Amino acid sequence: RMPLSQQALAARGVPYLDDLNPAQREAVEALDGPVLMLAGAGTGKTKALTTRIAHLLNTGRARPNEILAVTFTNKAAREMKERVARLLGQTVEGMPWMGTFHSICVKLLRRHAELVGLKTNFTILDTDDQVRLLKQLVVAADIDEKRWPARQLAHLIDNWKNRAWTPDKVPAAEGSAFNHRGVELYAAYQDRLKTLNAVDFGDLLLHVVTIFQTHEDVLAQYQRWFRFILVDEYQDTNVAQYLWLRLLAQRHRNICCVGDDDQSIYGWRGAEVGNILRFEKDFPGAKVVRLEQNYRSTPHILAAASGVIAANRDRLGKTLFTDATEGEKVRLIGHWDGEEEARWIGEEIESAQQGTRGMRPFALNDMAILVRASHQMRAFEDRFLTIGLPYRVIGGPRFYERLEIRDAMAYFRVSVSPDDDLAFERIVNTPKRGLGDKAQQKMQRAARDNGVSLVEGAKILLDEGGLTGKGAAELKALLGGIGRWHGRALDARQNHVELAQQILEESGYTEMWQNDKTPEAPGRLENLKELVKALEQFENLQGFLEHVALIMDNSSEESEDKVSIMTLHAAKGLEFPVVFLPGWEDGLFPSQRSMDESGVKGLEEERRLAYVGLTRAEELATVSFAGNRLVFGQWNSSLPSRFIDELPPEHIEVLTPPGLYGGQQQVESDLVNRASRADVYNSPGWKRLQSRSQTRGMAQPREARDMVIDATALSSFVEGDRVFHQKFGYGEVIAIEGDKLDISFDKAGFKKVVARFVTAAEA
Ligand code: ATP
Ligand code: MG
Repeated sequence: RMPLSQQALAARGVPYLDDLNPAQREAVEALDGPVLMLAGAGTGKTKALTTRIAHLLNTGRARPNEILAVTFTNKAAREMKERVARLLGQTVEGMPWMGTFHSICVKLLRRHAELVGLKTNFTILDTDDQVRLLKQLVVAADIDEKRWPARQLAHLIDNWKNRAWTPDKVPAAEGSAFNHRGVELYAAYQDRLKTLNAVDFGDLLLHVVTIFQTHEDVLAQYQRWFRFILVDEYQDTNVAQYLWLRLLAQRHRNICCVGDDDQSIYGWRGAEVGNILRFEKDFPGAKVVRLEQNYRSTPHILAAASGVIAANRDRLGKTLFTDATEGEKVRLIGHWDGEEEARWIGEEIESAQQGTRGMRPFALNDMAILVRASHQMRAFEDRFLTIGLPYRVIGGPRFYERLEIRDAMAYFRVSVSPDDDLAFERIVNTPKRGLGDKAQQKMQRAARDNGVSLVEGAKILLDEGGLTGKGAAELKALLGGIGRWHGRALDARQNHVELAQQILEESGYTEMWQNDKTPEAPGRLENLKELVKALEQFENLQGFLEHVALIMDNSSEESEDKVSIMTLHAAKGLEFPVVFLPGWEDGLFPSQRSMDESGVKGLEEERRLAYVGLTRAEELATVSFAGNRLVFGQWNSSLPSRFIDELPPEHIEVLTPPGLYGGQQQVESDLVNRASRADVYNSPGWKRLQSRSQTRGMAQPREARDMVIDATALSSFVEGDRVFHQKFGYGEVIAIEGDKLDISFDKAGFKKVVARFVTAAEA
């Protein structure tokens, strides 16, 4: 029996179907049986998929909780929900099985954890935890951790998990991996995880697949339950995900997969384009729908993208057309260096907001910068902060939130202020110095007992002989280092950029990553070089740390109008009217690694990434490259990307940069790039952040604070300041009322005191 709401709907017609072309409509209305939609970018695959979900609900064919809809990123999952809600004209309640592979598998695993020896409340380890655990196992197995780093093992195990290989299923051919101990360590690792009641990311899928394979009743239950299965970005599924889908779809066979082989960009993570080709074999009689009309981009953009991807040999091949009006050509511009590229893009964004070149004005939300490597983001973040251009970073942590950057910053912080306990805690055993939990607890106790900072506590502990052996020697060296660095940080003659470099080297932190053989390590080293480079624009370390503290605060609600910055990988499935594609240089894009490879596989994947990037643009795409870029701490001249040569010239407009390769203009732009700090502090961005942090009661950086003091002649302290009081000792300012301060003293507890009775203490 048809529910009343649906009868009403039937009477009204089904408006959303009218928005589809015949091929899309066919895919949407073929509700029963397997469907494979294989089509190029912007042809409306996701639109058809979401309409199909709406149609399933609307026609009463499925209840919301009987639909399993998977995609790859959280952002894409959110958008999927929004699109369905818009189509139905109501919010989508109770679609618990719409999300990423990981989020859905967490849910399934919590329900059946006991079947793989876990408790329902298992914890999910992040990569750091994972590596720490593996390191213990490697050491326990008497393997030289220097030659066989745990990170490499982590990578190996991830790969095996992506192929759905449990330790007993790893093929014999892999036996020599990790000095012939890989499989054995993998088994030990899985045991250890079980004891800890923990899983890593790869386990989420692997465990669920294992449960399905070994418990027919459980599998049967979900096979019955998920009557309709839909998968977006199907080209990027790995073997484990594919197995998972195939198991679940076996009963109803109502599975609809949409994808584009030209957009397969996760080969390095075990994704298999072969899954697309296998689909028709595994689901015989599948309806294959091809879409050829692109509704997203102008003809020039589409032609440029098609021109690039045509250079790939290994593809299924397809044609695309568009009815859109011609629009602007794809713009190409070369810059002197990466900083100038960031500055130029900042200006372009501002003029696009006003409406230039006869184009309509664009909102900041309409614009995106898509980078190949995350270390490229720093230049944009700093530049946009300086000119007060609101931005957000999508997917993955922002530059200053990355692990290696936070570690390095913690080193800088203890060097500037040795009593920064949090910073000291972070670095005391990074790199490993034999100062594990036990040793750290002893330091904490010594600090507490004596009412001093951790660094001081650690010194007392050493003096009292409370620590012996390797740990003691290493701690002594570290404390010596901190003392030295602190001295230099106070010394006005010391060049702070050199100091930063020294700190990272003398502490062994840089070396730690140099010895690391995992794929992430080069990227992390590159980020560290970027960090040191960023310091050049500041007078000293202190000023830099304050600058970053403000950047970190630059995070507010999604709804605000902001430029998006993200990696090309994170941009999959998204679209923006205006897209900037910076850093098209050989060695960066395509990446050095893909160029060094013997075959074309890596290069072809990079080219697909270029295709993904260009096809995100609706109206205006701009490709840029820089002649000089800082790589591993050195200025390298780089060549424009080979992909630039593949752009069909008739669809490209080459722009003349303001100061390309020298000349007076170059000197000027250099001056702008090296804007003095005064300029920074007078910039609208700085002022905006300053007023925002003020209203939030956040600590002000010193310079900005001085400006506030001049203006208001209030107490010179701000919330969060460390202070010293003759009688009560050290404490932290909690609140300010005129000239009275609420202070939480480390020992004396909470007190209200008059400001002039306290002095500033090192933070
Ligand atoms: P990608 O491969 O990049 O994920 P896609 O194939 O999923 O692209 P969609 O994002 O679904 O493409 O659609 C691209 C744009 O085209 C969207 O703005 C969508 O609303 C629009 N579109 C899709 N189909 C139609 C149609 N039949 N009529 C009008 N606009 C359409
Ligand atoms: Mg899509």
